[in-house]
Amino acid sequence: MNKMISKSKIEFCNYVWNTYWGCEFNCFYCFAKNIANRFWENILEKEMLYRHQQVVNTDKPFIYHHEYEKLKRQLKNFEPVFLHSNFERDFPRKPSIIFVNSMSDIAFWEIEDIKKVINRIKLNPKYIFLFFTKSAWLYEALIKDHGIQFPSNCYLGVTTDGRKYNFYAETLKYLKDNGNNVLLVIEPYIKQIHYEPLEYMIKQVNWVIVGQMTGIHASKNETKKEWLEILVKICALNKIPYFVKNNLVYKIGGLNQYYPDLIEKLCQIK
Ligand code: SF4
Repeated sequence: MNKMISKSKIEFCNYVWNTYWGCEFNCFYCFAKNIANRFWENILEKEMLYRHQQVVNTDKPFIYHHEYEKLKRQLKNFEPVFLHSNFERDFPRKPSIIFVNSMSDIAFWEIEDIKKVINRIKLNPKYIFLFFTKSAWLYEALIKDHGIQFPSNCYLGVTTDGRKYNFYAETLKYLKDNGNNVLLVIEPYIKQIHYEPLEYMIKQVNWVIVGQMTGIHASKNETKKEWLEILVKICALNKIPYFVKNNLVYKIGGLNQYYPDLIEKLCQIK
């Protein structure tokens, strides 16, 4: 038996399954990078122990030193790297919402690793799996160019902070029209998306999550109450479930945390 995936404090999911650590987008507000800076040495130790056990249990040559130095550099610099020890972790007993990449953006995953993750998801239909990327086009490329079919228990999340979204809408439409569950994540919402493009994007998705910035840059990058009110109004008008993260709830006067029917049913959320 392997160790179980980690419980999460992120309010819209129950667990995180971080098969990758690292991202090259280098967003100035990256929370994952702060976590990596604190814990990369622990991960290095666990991953090397896991890889060492795999090598010892097979006829492969002993490659410890070379791999150790490479992995150390990758984890220390927050370069994208596949973590075998995390990939192999067990899933919980109960149906749950599992966030697949809170420590990376799948734009930097190797295609073969994405396929491995999808194959494992296919074997585990009682969970909901959330993917996030700032490269909205990626899903379309994975489907069209690499023949990847996302199972129906996946939500394909496209994230923006409001500064770049021009090319998102058509991709979102393509994904939804082709039967995928699509998620729009506006977090941290730091620049207003105007009504029309926002409404057009929201109409193409099955779920919306919104949150504001926390940490040292928060005061200069606040999500305005009126931006949030517009977003909520559009979601309500178009009957799209939306989830306002805890850090923004006080601006909207109520919990406003809704899930799509599929997630409610599968994960028995009341
Ligand atoms: S895309 Fe996400 S993981 Fe990557 S740098 Fe930006 S906030 Fe961090």
